[in-house]
Parts: sequence; C-alpha cells; structure tokens
Amino acid sequence: MVFSSVLGFPRIGAHREVKKAVEAYWAGKLSAADLQKAAADVRKTSWTSLKKHNVDLIPSGDFTLYDHVLDHSAAFNVIPKRYVGLGLSDLDVFFALGRGRQADGVDVPSCEMKKWFDSNYHYVVPELSEETKFKLLYNKALQEYNEAKELGITTRPVILGPISYLVLGKASKEASANFEPISLLPKILPVYKQLLSELKAAGVDSVQVDEPILVLDKASDLDKQYATAYAELAPVAPKIILTTYFARLDSNINFIAKLPIAGLHIDLTRAPEQLDGVLTAIKSTQINLSLGVVSGRNIWKSDFTTAIKQGQKAIAALGHDRVIIATSSSLLHTPVTLANEKQLTEQQKDWFSFALEKAEEVATIAAILSDSQDPQVAAALEANRISIAKRREFEHTSDDAVRKRVASITPDMYHRKSEFAIRKEVQATKLQLPKFPTTTIGSFPQTKEIRSARAKHGKGDITDAEYDEFLKKEIETVVRFQEKIGLDLLVHGEPERNDMVQYFGEQLNGFVFTQNGWVQSYGSRYVRPPIVVSDVSRPKPMTVKWSSYAQSITKNSMKGMLTGPVTLLNWSFPREDVPRKLQSQQLALALRDEVIDLEAAGIAAIQVDEPAIREGLPLRRSDWNEYLGWAVDTFKLATAGVEDGTQTHSHFCYSDFGDIFTSIQRLDADVISIEFSKSDMKLLHTFQQYGYSNQIGPGVYDIHSPRVPGEQEIIDRLKATLTIIPAHLVFVNPDCGLKTRGWKETETSLANLVAAARWARANV
Ligand code: GLN
Ligand code: ZN
Repeated sequence: MVFSSVLGFPRIGAHREVKKAVEAYWAGKLSAADLQKAAADVRKTSWTSLKKHNVDLIPSGDFTLYDHVLDHSAAFNVIPKRYVGLGLSDLDVFFALGRGRQADGVDVPSCEMKKWFDSNYHYVVPELSEETKFKLLYNKALQEYNEAKELGITTRPVILGPISYLVLGKASKEASANFEPISLLPKILPVYKQLLSELKAAGVDSVQVDEPILVLDKASDLDKQYATAYAELAPVAPKIILTTYFARLDSNINFIAKLPIAGLHIDLTRAPEQLDGVLTAIKSTQINLSLGVVSGRNIWKSDFTTAIKQGQKAIAALGHDRVIIATSSSLLHTPVTLANEKQLTEQQKDWFSFALEKAEEVATIAAILSDSQDPQVAAALEANRISIAKRREFEHTSDDAVRKRVASITPDMYHRKSEFAIRKEVQATKLQLPKFPTTTIGSFPQTKEIRSARAKHGKGDITDAEYDEFLKKEIETVVRFQEKIGLDLLVHGEPERNDMVQYFGEQLNGFVFTQNGWVQSYGSRYVRPPIVVSDVSRPKPMTVKWSSYAQSITKNSMKGMLTGPVTLLNWSFPREDVPRKLQSQQLALALRDEVIDLEAAGIAAIQVDEPAIREGLPLRRSDWNEYLGWAVDTFKLATAGVEDGTQTHSHFCYSDFGDIFTSIQRLDADVISIEFSKSDMKLLHTFQQYGYSNQIGPGVYDIHSPRVPGEQEIIDRLKATLTIIPAHLVFVNPDCGLKTRGWKETETSLANLVAAARWARANV
C-alpha cells in the first residue's frame, strides 16, 4: 500500500482568519486567548479537510503565527538579550523578534529576515553565539500533535532538523570573530533528543525532519555532522523521515543513504532527474522513499501520468511498502483553495490546483499506485487525463506574433548604441543634472486616500474619469513637493499602482489573477502572485500616460518607472510548459516597447526595477551561469533599445552582491540604486574592487522604518561613500521606494537628503 503525504499546509486560513486575528491582536483589539482560539480553529479546519481528502500522513507542528524558523528559536531559548527582561509575555517576545516592538517605553527592532531558499517567503534568522544556551522551553510539535489527536486525527509532526536550523542561523554580535553556527551542534542535539523522545513517548509513529540545506552545495561538507547527529537522534526518536526540497541532492545522497533514518523525501518536481540515483543509493537500505510529485511551489494541476510513472519506477525498485506519494515541499507557498475563486473562468479553474486540491491529488495518486479498485479513483484519474489534455491544447495555442518576435531577437538588441562613458556625456548635456544628483526610487506614500480611491474605482463607485483626475492630482502633489524641496531627477510617485508586479500583469496579455490566492511573504504579509498562463505581450502602453503627464507639469527631468522582466516573472506563478527564459524574453520585449514609448514621449530617464534577480538564483551553483545568462540578457533586452541620451536606471533592494557582481556590471544600467543604509563599507569596497564603472546611488537612509535620518547622518554616509566611489559616479537617494512611509517623515527625510547633497556639492 502506497501512502500519501502532505509536508505542510498554508497557515493563513481560507479566509485569512489567522492574518486578521494576528493583526487584531497587534492592534490590541483581540486577546491572546482569542488569537490562540482563532489559530486552533484554522488548524482544526486544515487537519479535518486533509483527513477528508484521504491524506494518510497529515502534518502537525508546521503551523505558525509568524514564521516556523522563529517558532524553533523561541522554543529553543534562542532569544537575543535585547528581547529579554522587557516585561513582555512569551507571545509578545515572539512577535517582537519577528517584527520589532515600539510601545510603552520598549523599543527593539526586529531580527533580520532572509529569503527562504529561492522562494519569496522570509524566515527570521536565528542569532547564535558561543553564549547560546539551548533549552527546550516547550514542545510545539508535541502540543499540536496532541491537539489533533484530541480531534481524532493522527498526524505526523514536522520539525526543522538541527543542521539546517544551525546553518540557516547567523553569528550574533556577541559571537567571536570566527564563530560558525554549526559548531553548536553538540549543544543543540540534547534539545532535539528531548523533543524527539517526548514525541516518541506520546506514541508518535514517524516524524518529518526537514533538512532542506541538503540540496545546497555546502551540505557536502557536512557529512560527518549528519552522521553524528542522526546517529544520536535516531535511537530516541520516532521513525525519522528526512525531508529535502527545492532542488537535487546530487552526491549528498551518498552519505544520506548511510544515515539511520526510516525515510527520505526528495523533490521530483524541481529535480525529477535525481530519482534514478537516489533509488540506486537506497535500494539495499531500509530507507523508505517519499516522492515529492505534486508541486508545493506552483499552482498548476499535476499531471498524474508523470507522477504515476515516477511512482511505478520507485515501486519497481523498492516495493509498494517503501514508497510514499507526497507534495514536493510544504504547501505554504500556494494559496489555500480554488473553491473561493469566483472570477476565474471554468476553463481556467480546471488548470489549477491550490493547497487543498493538491492534497486531493497526492491521495489519488497514492491510491492509483496502490492498485485501488475504487471507481472514484478511476474517475479522478480519467478526469485528470481530460483536463491535462485540454490544458495542453490551450498551451499549444501560442501567440505566433510573440513567438516570431522572440525568435528574431538579434544580438545587437542586447546592447546600447554606445558604451557607458560616451552615454554619460550625452546624458549630462541632455539631463543637466547637477553633481551628486538627488532622486528617489519611485513610489511616494500610498496614503489611505489613494487606497480608498483605488478600491472605489475597482467597485465602480467612481468613474474612470474621476479616478484619472484623482491620480493626476496625486501626481501633481508629488511633483510640486519634489520641486519645492529641490530634488533633481523627479518621479511621478506611482499612485496608480496596487503592486509593482500586479499592476503590470493586469495590463499585459498572458496573465490571470486570483481573488483569494494569498501566499505568505513574511509574518502577516501575504501577496497574491499573478499567474502567467500564455504568451505575454503588451496590447498598449502601460505607464506612458502617467509619466508624460508628470513630465508635462515640470521643467525638471522625470524618471519613468517599470518593473523588470525577471522580477515580474519571479514574483508570479510561471508557466511550466515553456522555460522561464522564454517567458522572461517575452516580458522583456513588452517592456522594451514601453521603454521606447516612454523615450518617445520625452522621458529622459527610465528605471527598470529588478529587486528579485538575486532571489531567483538557482540553489546549486552549477546552475547559476545559465540563469544569470538569460536574466541579465532579458534585462538588457528590455532597456537597450533607447538612444544614448536616455538614462537607464535599475534598483535592487539588497546589497548582497558578492557572488553576482559581474552580472550587475553586465546589466550596463547607467545608474543603479541599492540598499546601503544597513550595510557596511565592505559593500562599496566590493564595487571598487571589481571596478564597477557605471553610476551608483547607495541608499543613504533606510525607508523601512519611520525614523528620520538627520542631515549630518546623511552627510556622513555620503562622505564615507566618497572615500571609495568616484564623486562623478555618485547619485544620492533613499534605499527603496517610499510607498509604506507616511508623508511626515518622508518630507523631513528627503529635505535632509537634499541638504546633504548640497553640502557635498559645495564641499567635495
Ligand atoms: N519603484 C518601486 C518603488 O519605489 C521599487 C520597489 C522595490 O524596489 N521593491 O516602490
Ligand atoms: Zn527596493
């Protein structure tokens, strides 16, 4: 009998109950007890629906009110000193770690967040040092296991394994210079032993131990640690299912196959090619194999035929009883259910599977592989065959014009007419910017008024004409403000945009949108990624109207504002029938037309944001070149169609450039702006060391907090910059868009920024 398994479930609730409850608790409108009650209700609904869909191995312990890595830190007593002794409840300490706390005389910033592998989910980074005293303060996996048991549902607890937990952490400020988090393994193992033996004592049969770092290159140096850790844990634990996802194990399978584990989970949606090697490696062991055949990262209905073939191959090698059919990863990266989508057409709905539908898929595939005689299973298989066939038919109806255009891209389309040094001269004459030009990253505060006008327009309560008038007024306010305080290169403020990806997706052919397709980004922040369903093209200009209106009311140069092809793709659910490269090229061609139209409309500077280029890096280094090759090329395809005098900008919300430096140079943007307010000088030294030759605006203050930077502080930041970067290459700007800020702090901060640039002009 082949079992089915779901590795983790969205935590938000089908109607965003958890998000609402958490935010109400933060606002002081809901008690801690009521928050816990709302969370328990959502857990109950998830468990009962998984049970109803006949999933054999139902996860528990994967639920969280903020982040699952933070759950481990909080339970393991990994709580940095600055959060201790503030007189807060455990729950409030937990939230303070995640989002900071500024109330009643307490003022602590949040811990650092990092992207969870190559996803848009962010985890809270554990801070570790020689001083860290691990202690099991409570056993969350056990609590939730028992909670489900009381509902009559047997679950499989999920925990993050000790080695991944440590490797995902970082050295805290207290740590000594060459401290490595992994050195704490002997100290953390007793905590894991206690946790696991408590599960065993409670009658838990098997436990899912996530070790996702096993798909990274660096895991190959950790074979000894894995051997030691699991040799210690296995004897006291329930059966351990070592769980990996998002990429392939490669040679790490050699040491994994020797571990005393009861099962191994591999991701066959991201790395189907690893099946053969893994089967060979574990064939003669006792290890069961969990096949991740239903994608936890995308929303397309699974093709049962492919999954069944993979399952049959595994069964042929290992026998029925050693094979489990599973989701490829936790389903936290997918929306809860299709059932609440009322605006998708029936045809579109038939293409997709969200979390609940995916649960049904694993159960059905497992039943088929168990040779179930159930007529419902046969019917489900037949229904899947029909809908996949229909989707394939739709996928084959490509947009010939778009395909032809991609096929006829010529090499010169990737390059500007002249090299940067020449362009810089032409642009100097055309734009007439002063030394140390000041500018912003694009958006200005998205006020309540803006959001409410957008909502009214969406509902039809105000007409298109009224909404246009409203937006024009907003743009005028932003333009007049920038003129007043003396910014040089202006922006229109992006009041018309709900989101930097959705806004473009809605205007391009080839995308569809959900009403409730929320996916967790971090904490209570959820996004609704658009879905690319067919060839992408631009039916008409998207931003020209707004940028040219803004330009028409000012003598200063206006900077047009677009989201780049790679970011549009990385923050959407991509198609799976054609490569990402092709999708990115199509997006790039659409953007190229927009860039050229902006230029023709008299916009002399155009920014194409690519904050997601880095997060899209493949997890295995050997795959980087291929990705960076097309990612950089498509950015260039989007931007290189303009004359020398048009200044192209790009923006990145990160500063972690080390590994991809040459790619940033290869983008050949005239100006890049980067996050710098929280980084140290090392970053700029890297730019210097690599001889970065184009212009650069290292963000002089952090827009993620309402704090206003003083003029002197910005001057100091600039001075430091100028010791490293040649003055003629430096732009002065904040480190990201201002949409989440209020007007009050925006006004003072930008006034201080302008004053600092003026100081530099006079003194450098
Ligand atoms: N132009 C965008 C803005 O200012 C850039 C946002 C981003 O980098 N995430 O809002
Ligand atoms: Zn940014």
